[in-house]
Amino acid sequence: MATLHETIAKSLIRKHKRIDSWFISRYGFNIYRGCEHNCIYCDGRAEKYYVEGEFGKDIRVKINAPDLLRRELDPTRKRKPMKKAFILPGGGVGDSYQPAEKDYKLTRQVLKVINEYNFPVHMLTKSTLVERDLDILTQINNNTKAIVSFSLSSVKENIARVFEPGLPSPLKRIETLSKVKTMGLSGGDFFTSGNSVYIRYP
Ligand code: SF4
Repeated sequence: MATLHETIAKSLIRKHKRIDSWFISRYGFNIYRGCEHNCIYCDGRAEKYYVEGEFGKDIRVKINAPDLLRRELDPTRKRKPMKKAFILPGGGVGDSYQPAEKDYKLTRQVLKVINEYNFPVHMLTKSTLVERDLDILTQINNNTKAIVSFSLSSVKENIARVFEPGLPSPLKRIETLSKVKTMGLSGGDFFTSGNSVYIRYP
């Protein structure tokens, strides 16, 4: 059972100098720091990411993330509005759909803000909880573009159980991806064992 530490962040969005060639995003941010999914290969534990406490058990929750995002995307607050480019919520130090999200619903709120300001989104997750937000992701897709990507270490249950102990089974993730496709969104899988490869499903 994780301990949730609510925090007030000072800023949110990270801007890349160039569009990330893997995730095609120019902007990113984390809502959670630390991740209850606790994949054993996760590099979020590396010292350079400065995640305090025990990575899979001490989860920092940026409870003001939706307000910060609104402030940072609002073009009337900027001399130079941000270029329209893909935003990738979540990343290496915390899945945006980890268990804490069930109650906090911060990812859902930030998606609404992204939609309000007409930015495209690339949602990368390992959790089937993303199904809850397919309604808002569809709205984003209708306005700009929404992509939902999963990552898998293996399609074999027994192997995934070792490497990704806190996650739904690979089969369940693939079923969720199928729902993503049924809703008309783009989606695919990052396979993370051996050489990374991205498979986009038509
Ligand atoms: S879901 Fe992602 S962030 Fe969370 S532990 Fe696994 S690899 Fe790390």
